[in-house]
Amino acid sequence: METLLRKLFLAIGLNKSAARLMRRYGARLGAARFVAGTELRDAAEAVKRLNDEGLLATVDHLGEFVRHAEDAKLAADMCLMTLDLIHNEGLQANLSLKLTSLGLDIDPALCESHMRAILSRANELRIFVRIDMEDYAHCQAAIDLYRKLKRDYPNFGIVIQAYLRRSELDVRTLGRNGANLRLVKGAYKESPQVAYPLKKDVDEAFAKLIRIQLKQGYAAIATHDEAIIEQSLRWIADNNIPNEKFEFQMLYGIREDLQKQLADEGYRVRVYVPYGKDWFGYFMRRLAERPANVWFLLKHMRRK
Ligand code: FAD
Repeated sequence: METLLRKLFLAIGLNKSAARLMRRYGARLGAARFVAGTELRDAAEAVKRLNDEGLLATVDHLGEFVRHAEDAKLAADMCLMTLDLIHNEGLQANLSLKLTSLGLDIDPALCESHMRAILSRANELRIFVRIDMEDYAHCQAAIDLYRKLKRDYPNFGIVIQAYLRRSELDVRTLGRNGANLRLVKGAYKESPQVAYPLKKDVDEAFAKLIRIQLKQGYAAIATHDEAIIEQSLRWIADNNIPNEKFEFQMLYGIREDLQKQLADEGYRVRVYVPYGKDWFGYFMRRLAERPANVWFLLKHMRRK
């Protein structure tokens, strides 16, 4: 049943008409739990609140799989405005972005030119930028562009998904020389040819990637899985890995207690803060990760 629900939410999340319908009728459902708001100002306020509690942030202007060059330009402009706001308001935050929002599917050269503009501004303002990893169909293109741009913009990272069979090799090649990789389990629907279908194999691969990256570079350990966090912390202590070599990352609205607890214990914790009008796909992935969230959503709808 859980697997079915997961597949259903991931499929709906990719549906542009469903997303348009949701936007048009303004039905935010329970998305407010996971999304800071629709405007840049909402993101700034959320980041300020987090910073006041000793938490860092990474801000994401929501949007993905765009098909028109004008939309890609708008998304790039929003990234630039987000960088300016982080700088002007002195927020302790960096930027996360998705290449398909910047036109990867329209023309890779267009996407590269938007990326160069964003990375140049981020470089001037000394703000770190990270490419989120999307579905497997875009993985190689994302890694190729990351490698190309990394030569010119060192303050720049990418995400590696533990559920992909290829990821150990990617971590070993991309994570060397102090490179900053965010490691996640993976949030998209993928075929067993390319991704481990069983949760236990994904968890095992995830723990292994974390250890490899902690040894060779900087690890952004992005998970709410307490067992993995505890296991990593034990391994970190046993191997004398300094706190400067890693951070924990969690999503806005998920396990806020754990975010705060780790920060209070002196670990660096960064919260992923998404904002914008195109929240539907992101929200569906959050429901797919934990079908119990549907009860939360139904309760929220009943109260309206
Ligand atoms: P799980 O085993 O799924 O969950 C462990 C526990 O965490 C659950 O028992 C529950 O208590 C809690 N939890 C997990 N998810 C939810 C939820 N949605 N709602 C409520 N509670 C929940 N994936 C990508 O594919 N590409 C990316 O670029 C990417 N970036 C990410 C950035 C950050 C900062 C984080 C934290 C995750 C990111 N992800 C990304 C998502 C990731 O791949 C997982 O889908 C997600 O983190 C859930 O897995 P988990 O590690 O928390 O472990």
